[in-house]
Amino acid sequence: MSLFDDHFASKNAASARAWAMDDDKNGSKKEKRHEPAAPKMGVCDKCHREALVRSYRTRQTDLGNGAASFGTVIKYFCEECAPKSRRERDADVPQLSNKQVKNLMRSAKKGLL
Ligand SMILES: [Zn+2]
Repeated sequence: MSLFDDHFASKNAASARAWAMDDDKNGSKKEKRHEPAAPKMGVCDKCHREALVRSYRTRQTDLGNGAASFGTVIKYFCEECAPKSRRERDADVPQLSNKQVKNLMRSAKKGLL
């Protein structure tokens, strides 16, 4: 991995974490109350296959006739297409420890990389 790749990856991770924090501030109360219902047979709204699906409430904003309307839409997703929970998403983000970041910065300053 080049210096650029490392830098890019850590920058991405940092902004992903910032996003997650914004999410918490804006809507964690609502999302905590909402657990996906038990799976049942149905057609997935994303891949259109018949499968065990769960219902998910998604917020939708429509702009029509110059007026914005906000609504909640129920979508059915199979296990594969289901939106990941925040905890799972966070697990996907590569995390650099503080020590790794410091080492990276020090190396970069010294021009070692
Ligand atoms: Zn699907």
